Amino acid sequence: MPGLEDLYREIILDHYKSPRNRGTLEPPAVRAEGHNPLCGDEIEVFLDVQDGVISDIKISGQGCSISQSSASMMSAAVKGKPVEQVRALIQRFKHMMSIEDETSEPDTSTPLGDLEALQGVVKFPVRIKCAVLAWNTLAEGLELASA
Ligand code: ZN
Repeated sequence: MPGLEDLYREIILDHYKSPRNRGTLEPPAVRAEGHNPLCGDEIEVFLDVQDGVISDIKISGQGCSISQSSASMMSAAVKGKPVEQVRALIQRFKHMMSIEDETSEPDTSTPLGDLEALQGVVKFPVRIKCAVLAWNTLAEGLELASA
């Protein structure tokens, strides 16, 4: 696969080798799981939401480096953040991955930080699902937490 070097930027490898926030949380934390059958990626997101803030998040699962590093970056980016800000970040990330079909421009007030390292994935459409898996699973977890 040409240009794979671009994909495996140092920051992605770092998150893959040293994933942040690995583990599980006990109830009442909510648990959401996502699968990407195209690649075999599995992500479990455990969320503790208190007073509208993600007070804690843990990630479990296995899969390719893109799916796991994206999950690690996601967990670091949303921990301690208000849910509303996190929803905006999810939308912004999906927009970056070219799969946000809403016409409205995303709220750019939330910096992407490390997440910008995943921008190169857009060049590899088959890997976009890998990168977005953790974010879709997070969105599902937020739904469960607000139910
Ligand atoms: Zn994958």
